[in-house]
Amino acid sequence: MSKLSVEMAILEKSITKLELGFSNLPEIYENTDYKAIESILMDVANKLTNNYPYFHPFYLGQMLKPPHPIARLAYQLAMQINPNNHALDGGIASSEMEKEVIKDISSMFGFYDGTGHLTSSGTIANLEALWIAGKESPEKAIAASEQAHYTHRRISKVLGLPFVEIKNDENGRMDINFLTESLEKYQIGTVVVTLGNTGFGAIDPLLDILKLRELYDFRIHVDAAYGGYFILDDSLEKNIKTHFECIEYVDSLVVDPHKHGLQPYGCGCVLFSDKSISHHYRHDSPYTYFSSKELHLGEISLECSRAGASAVALYSTMKAFPLKQGGDFSHRLQKSRQAAQKLAKFVESSKNYITVWKPDLDIVVWAPRGSSASEISNISHNIFDQCAKYDIHIALFKIPTRMFLEKHQNIDDDNNFITCLRACLMKPEHLIFIDEICNRIKQATADVMESGENYAKKNYSFDS
Ligand SMILES: *Cc1c(COP(=O)(O)O)cnc(C)c1O
Repeated sequence: MSKLSVEMAILEKSITKLELGFSNLPEIYENTDYKAIESILMDVANKLTNNYPYFHPFYLGQMLKPPHPIARLAYQLAMQINPNNHALDGGIASSEMEKEVIKDISSMFGFYDGTGHLTSSGTIANLEALWIAGKESPEKAIAASEQAHYTHRRISKVLGLPFVEIKNDENGRMDINFLTESLEKYQIGTVVVTLGNTGFGAIDPLLDILKLRELYDFRIHVDAAYGGYFILDDSLEKNIKTHFECIEYVDSLVVDPHKHGLQPYGCGCVLFSDKSISHHYRHDSPYTYFSSKELHLGEISLECSRAGASAVALYSTMKAFPLKQGGDFSHRLQKSRQAAQKLAKFVESSKNYITVWKPDLDIVVWAPRGSSASEISNISHNIFDQCAKYDIHIALFKIPTRMFLEKHQNIDDDNNFITCLRACLMKPEHLIFIDEICNRIKQATADVMESGENYAKKNYSFDS
């Protein structure tokens, strides 16, 4: 039997069981035109082939990871009910599941007396965390590194809070000296610490920032939308692990189950270590909160309607992959990191590349040999295009030339930014294919750099 038929059989069985629970109700006559549905879906399936192959290990471009079959099936099962986790009125069972997953995710980070909920994305989760930060230290600034997700600057604007940008060191991590200077200079209420930033996957030095908190009073918000689950990877290097191990001392945290947690999009999560912040959310609803005196999740979240199916999918996935150090789930993350390390090693040994940022997690950034910022950018674009011809899909990443010069003084800084190559190795299956992936990148690189003319002529324009 094909994978698809096995999955469809499980889905049919479980939906039948669900329907049985409501079999006391009279049947509804539905006049559904399945012929039309089929014909539309055939057309849509055809349109959907116009995508990069996100599900395949040859795709290592953006932060896209296929949901695990259990998550897809559980989501579809829940769709029969389409619960709404705003209030118990709209989703009794799925709200219970959400509370349970929140408890487990909180424990993973050492938050035992906090509060939190799922959100529709990391952006909304960060918005809620910074909104609470602004309530707790009004008018003071939010500080985040220049490599922090751009969302923090935007959210600060939305919230009307001042924003201070902290420089990164040459590894892409927040520069602790620069942070100290900024704490002296500005009224900083909250420092956003990114564990696994979007560009490099780099880990900000949380332990050192906690030590600074003894001297300067500020809140710490950890944006672990990407990297949070790596707390389970017991094979992390000591200097990285240290920062995960002190997460329990921060004020709030964001992790995205739809990034590394095997979930379909629509699943972020915000956690607070101290549940007393809940009063900021206090409001009444004239429509809902009637069915029970128990906590309605809408009472502690900014979003109203939220997909109960997301909670059902995450709950089911966490039953299959409990959040355990050294468990199956952590082994999957470990394989991603191993694949990234192999890619970095290949780049390092190649004469066509001058630099690689060694991955803290599973993201690799590297740059081809070139004599100036604009030449390197140009070659990066060409390699990116050429890789796609070998079915290898990587990403481009614009970094400040200043960061580049800290590693290589001998290039002409004719532009403020350099476009480099970037790969996110989020799937454990990359490891199986890594030699083939490296071979294809090597071939594409040789095409661009060794056959000269054809490629060198193809110029891209850059904004500086
Ligand atoms: C992806 C990401 C975000 C934004 O989350 P979305 O789920 O895309 O809204 C924020 N911060 C970091 C570090 C991320 O990687």
